[in-house]
Parts: sequence; structure tokens; C-alpha cells
Amino acid sequence: MTKHIVPESGLTSLTAAELAEKIHSREVTSREVVQAHLDRIAEVDGDLNAFLYVGAEQALATAEAVDAALDAGEQPASPLAGVPVALKDLFTTTDAPTTAASKMLEGWTSPYDATVTLKLREAGIPILGKTNLDEFAMGSSTENSAFGPTRNPYDLERTPGGSGGGTSAALAAGMAPLGIGTDTGGSIRQPAALTNTVGVKPTYGTISRYGVIAAASSLDQGGPTARTVLDTALLHQLIAGPDEFDATSVDVEVPDLVAAAKKGADGDLKGVRVGRIKQFDRDGWQDGVMERYHAALDQLVAQGAEIVDVDCPHFDDALAAYYLIMPSEVSSNMARFDGMRYGLRVGDDGTRSADEVMAMSRAEGFGPEVKRRIILGTYALSVGYYDAYYLQAQRVRTLVAQDFATAFESVDVLVSPTTPTTAFKLGEKNDDPLEMYNFDLCTLPLNLAGLCGMSVPNGFAADDNLPVGLQIMAPAFKDDRLYHVGAAFEAGQKK
Ligand code: GLN
Repeated sequence: MTKHIVPESGLTSLTAAELAEKIHSREVTSREVVQAHLDRIAEVDGDLNAFLYVGAEQALATAEAVDAALDAGEQPASPLAGVPVALKDLFTTTDAPTTAASKMLEGWTSPYDATVTLKLREAGIPILGKTNLDEFAMGSSTENSAFGPTRNPYDLERTPGGSGGGTSAALAAGMAPLGIGTDTGGSIRQPAALTNTVGVKPTYGTISRYGVIAAASSLDQGGPTARTVLDTALLHQLIAGPDEFDATSVDVEVPDLVAAAKKGADGDLKGVRVGRIKQFDRDGWQDGVMERYHAALDQLVAQGAEIVDVDCPHFDDALAAYYLIMPSEVSSNMARFDGMRYGLRVGDDGTRSADEVMAMSRAEGFGPEVKRRIILGTYALSVGYYDAYYLQAQRVRTLVAQDFATAFESVDVLVSPTTPTTAFKLGEKNDDPLEMYNFDLCTLPLNLAGLCGMSVPNGFAADDNLPVGLQIMAPAFKDDRLYHVGAAFEAGQKK
């Protein structure tokens, strides 16, 4: 079977930390590193479709500026200066189009940079390009992109997950050592699990959402992805922090994530209490995934952790609540795409009213899943149904948060499989939206509660030889625990 996974040698096989070390010691130039990744993109992305836009010129220009500063004897602008990143095409950039993988925004370039984009620029991180996603981040397979699906580097017939499948495929295929995604219900963690990469959904409010095209504002959170826990920590540390342009941004000091990852590298988990969620240890999920999950629990015990069984009864209702709250917020956020202010405009030939032009623009600009969610959300919020749907879902949301709070009284972190199965075949779930929604069952409770979580590689399923992820969850503002336990788990996997 064709695979396009990380090459075994050369610059594109190295981790971000290794690349940074080589660039900062002047063993290689940032330009060489960026060029190697651009070459890799040219070599394999025709098959994978991870990038919607490649910004070769811009990335090389940043690299050259980093090289010039280092050659002049300056300190690196950041620990990752010169190491390139792949940016989900939901973050605005002034020097490249931002489409959200929608026809609605095709060809649109933002007049301002997202705060995360700016932070990357300030850190001297070359942006290789904008990666593919499900349209407006709605989906679990990247098949809802208006510009064609992304394929999984481990099996080109399969999905890399979604919505951030482009970024994860780029990491897995060695097209980028670092990536930025967003996670509303799992869109960073789930693709990470399916592509043998690391993805973190940070605590809600700790990474600015300014300039991130909104899907569901009370759930959306930008976050880092990479191939190792340490690389993810290095990137996370750079993009975190309060922002006056994001009203939900919180001014809480970011813990030292890099130190936590380094602490975990010795693999010692003595004294760490790990909660096994009863609701996410079920019969009926893929055998190969559950075998890996149980092996992970054994490994954690061998590393010194104590496993505690925890009951989170309302997690069974989390999916239903999420798929009411999420579309409700979508129905409001998508209203700005009206064909009037920016983006696609259809039928404006002087004979039609503004209402008709708006209707025609939205009919043509949005794909079926976005329309489905606008309709669902509008229904859930409408008079007469609000109490039965939206309000009820918010009550469940509170109960889910309470389940987490109770669990964290007796454990430091919680674990579960990241997904119930490995990567599914492209097209397999397209006729049944509920099947697709079900795939996010393990990841979305965390978003409802605003906490933080990581997916870390947990080997390959014995039944299909595809990547499996272990999900680690921690309380709000305790993102450092993810890195400590994640790095220890990663170290244990290598033994
Ligand atoms: N798959 C989930 C959804 O479709 C989550 C998407 C996301 O996290 N952006 O809503």
C-alpha cells in the first residue's frame, strides 16, 4: 500500500527541536530547512492535498531574515526561530489567502493577521502555507473541504481525520515539522490520533481567537501540533498568552510547558494519578484500538502511575449536547457571510434585491454540512424549541463540566482512546452525518467544559496497522500536566 510518511533521513525527518538546534548553531540555514520542506511538499502533496496554498516566497523570506540575524550574531528570536510551520487555513494572514476551505471565501485575503499568525512571525517562524480543513472546521475527515479531501499519509484511501486533516497530514508526511490547528470538538486531537502525531487542545481562553474564523465561539480553541511532545510544547509556549483583541482571552500565567515536557522525558510517572473513564472503555469499538488503549494503561502503570476508575455518567449525553450547541453558535457566526461585505457574491446583476443576492450567495457559497448546521442551529434557537433543545443542551454542558470536576478531585489526568476506530476510508461516512458525528465522541466533552487535552501516538492497531492515539485530559490551566504525562508516555513507548 502506498505510504507518504516522514522520510527516514534528511532535514524533513528531524524534529523541530533538532532543526532549531542545527539552525541556531549554524550547522544548517533556515533557508535550507524551509527549502527541504518545500521540496517535500512538491514531491508528495499532489497525492495528499494537505496544502490549499503554499507560500514559498514568504517562507523563504522569513528564513533568510532569521539566517541574516543569526549570522550577525543576534540571539534567535525564539527557541523555534527558523523552523517552519503549516498553518490551518482558518487563521488570517495578510500575505496569503484565507479560505476556511469554503467557496464563500475563495480568493479572499485578510486585511489583518490573526494574533497567532503575528506571534509566529515575531518568533521568526516561516509559514510554509495554509492547510486544508473541513469547510469552516465543520467535520471529522477533511472531506467537507470545498477544495477536495486530504488523504492520510499512512493509507491514501483513508482520511487523515478532521477538521485539521491538512495540518496533520503535512506533519505525518514530513512536509512540516510544526503545525497550528483549531479544536472545537476534536479537530486537533482527532487528526493527530489518525496520523501518528501529537495534537493539543489548550485550555479555553489561553490562545487568542482573534483572526481565527469562528465556528462555535464558546468551544473554538487554537492549538499546536507536531510529531513529538517536546516540539508541541515549544510551539504551544510561543502562541499562548492573553490578548486584548479576544474578549474571551484569559490573563492567567501560562505554566512552563517545555519544562513539563522535559521533566516527562525520563518516563517516571510515580505518584501521578491517572483516571480511566468508564464511559470510554467500551465493547464495540475497534479491537485494535482498545488493545492499544489497554496496553497504554499497562504501560502507565509500569511507569509508576496509579490508575483510578472514574465515572462520568453525563459523557453519554455530551455528543447530543455538542451537536446542538455547536450548530447554534454556527448559525449565528455564519450570518456574516452574506455576499455583501466580502467573499463570494452571486446574482448581483442589478435586477435582484439584496435579499435575493444574499440567498443566492449563501446557497452557492456554503457546502452541505455548513448548511445542515445552520439549519439545525437556527431550529434549536427558534422560539418554541429553544427551551427543549438549546437550553437543555446547556444544562447537559454544565453536567459534563461537573463530571470532569468531580473526576479531577481524585486524579491528576484522565485518559481515553482519542477515537473509537483508526482512520476510516474516504467516503465511508459521507452518507450518514450521525456516523460522522459519532467519531468525535471521546474528544468533545473536553471542549464543552473548556479544559485541555492532548492526543499522543499510541502505536498501531494490530488489526489494520494504522495509527492509534491516546487522549490525555487535564483541568483548566493545567496544560503542563498534559506535557508531563504525554512526554513520559512517549518515552515509555520507545522502550
Ligand atoms: N468534528 C467536530 C465537528 O464537526 C469538531 C470540529 C472541530 O473541532 N472544529 O464539529
